[in-house]
Amino acid sequence: METINRDLQAVFDWIDGHREAAIRDLQRLVQQPSVSAQGIGLEECADLVATLMETAGLPCQVEQTPGGPPCIFGHLRSGRSTKTLLLYSHYDVQPVEPLDLWSHPPYGGVVAGGRLWGRGASDNKSGVLAFIVAAAAWRETVGEPPVSLKFIIEGEEEIGSIHLGPLIAARPELVRADAMHCLDGGVDPSAMVPDIDLGLKSVLFVELVARGAKSDIHSLNAPLVPQPAWDLVRALNTLVDSDRRILMKIGTKTCGNLVRRRMRSLPRMLRALI
Ligand SMILES: [Zn+2]
Repeated sequence: METINRDLQAVFDWIDGHREAAIRDLQRLVQQPSVSAQGIGLEECADLVATLMETAGLPCQVEQTPGGPPCIFGHLRSGRSTKTLLLYSHYDVQPVEPLDLWSHPPYGGVVAGGRLWGRGASDNKSGVLAFIVAAAAWRETVGEPPVSLKFIIEGEEEIGSIHLGPLIAARPELVRADAMHCLDGGVDPSAMVPDIDLGLKSVLFVELVARGAKSDIHSLNAPLVPQPAWDLVRALNTLVDSDRRILMKIGTKTCGNLVRRRMRSLPRMLRALI
């Protein structure tokens, strides 16, 4: 534990000593538009993220999602452990309209009142840069990280990562890891520290379609004709049980198992790191 504390102090000191450079890099990221919903600036922002990673000494590669924006993958190997931690974040942002509600230009990256203002300054360009700097700080001071680190920094989180799936399905080794940490979170405004949510789960959309008669029919035919409303009620009741446990099946695994497996990833990640 003493060694870990000493290592961490060296890392923190390096970060403090490079604070101004990190702020300038965050300004560069914020000043680069990258609106996935409007297809603005995504290639340029992906190139900038890759440049920042390479400058920080983090090996990375830019991969094109089929029909979507580029995605950056990084891999910082460690011989100290066989475990790998995957760090997820995104470089795209929400649209900036309406412009008249901004107190500072959305792509200005202005530092005022002790804060950096601009679209994506929090969600999620600060997350992207914070972990690039943290990984670089560890590498510069301690050397190899305690576990291997993989990065995935995608460009369409704000519209549901619609083109990411096929790339990951074709190249699973890019994200294969023992645990994952999502860098996409908010900041506690009172303490001004990043939130870390435990047990973060993803979203699964399900569309249920029930069909019945094509035209109005008399109720006396009810026993004979399918009734879509009741079919949907019964179908909804098969999605979760009375304790809200997920009952749906994906292949041979239930969604609940997938959710539990993801929830286990954080303790595994922490155990691997200590
Ligand atoms: Zn986000």
